[in-house]
Amino acid sequence: LFVVFEGGEGAGKSTQLGLLADRLREQGRDVVVTREPGATPVGERIRSLLLGQPGSDVPSPRAEALLYAADRAHHVATVVRPALARGGVVISDRYVDSSLAYQGAGRTLPVDEVSWLSSWATGGLKPDLVVLLDVDPRTGLSRVASRGEDRDHLEAESVSFHERVRYAFLDLAAADPKRYLVLDASRPATEIAKAVARRIDEMLGA
Ligand code: C5P
Repeated sequence: LFVVFEGGEGAGKSTQLGLLADRLREQGRDVVVTREPGATPVGERIRSLLLGQPGSDVPSPRAEALLYAADRAHHVATVVRPALARGGVVISDRYVDSSLAYQGAGRTLPVDEVSWLSSWATGGLKPDLVVLLDVDPRTGLSRVASRGEDRDHLEAESVSFHERVRYAFLDLAAADPKRYLVLDASRPATEIAKAVARRIDEMLGA
């Protein structure tokens, strides 16, 4: 089973991903928690090219899209596919939809081209479920700011960039409702976790 968490900044993906992983591990399942960009040593180097030096030396939009695609190609080949092949549950923090939303809608690259690039990178591997944690960018960005994380790269983008990203995620979910679980990220974390657990139990027949 391949589950992806998507959402804007400060949506609470890592909290929810951790809660789901703990729950599945308690059930004795083989769980691999992973993320994009940066889940592998090669990916970490790509991540630092993408997010490492905000302000200086930022890759151009097409270069950025190719770097995310390179990270993803390596991630799928060396982490995701092997784990799925041995029957594991893979839970990824971001996947293809992040590229459609950030590089496509956000940077205004043609979404069909970013989509094609992503399918090439992944060999067409699609998640079984995408959990979209939907949050108003103002709320999400203020959550991130209050955590005091080193998030300089976010400063570079306007609220309208993050709004385009948000609506791109929602459009993707609306176009393929069976594959998505869209949750309001402003709800309490425990409620969100319950909704995720219910859906995963259904899928696993638990
Ligand atoms: O998931 P996390 O918040 O760690 O992602 C790091 C950053 O990478 C995000 O803030 C987002 O701006 C950016 N990103 C992106 N395009 C992707 C994936 C992530 O711009 N495809």
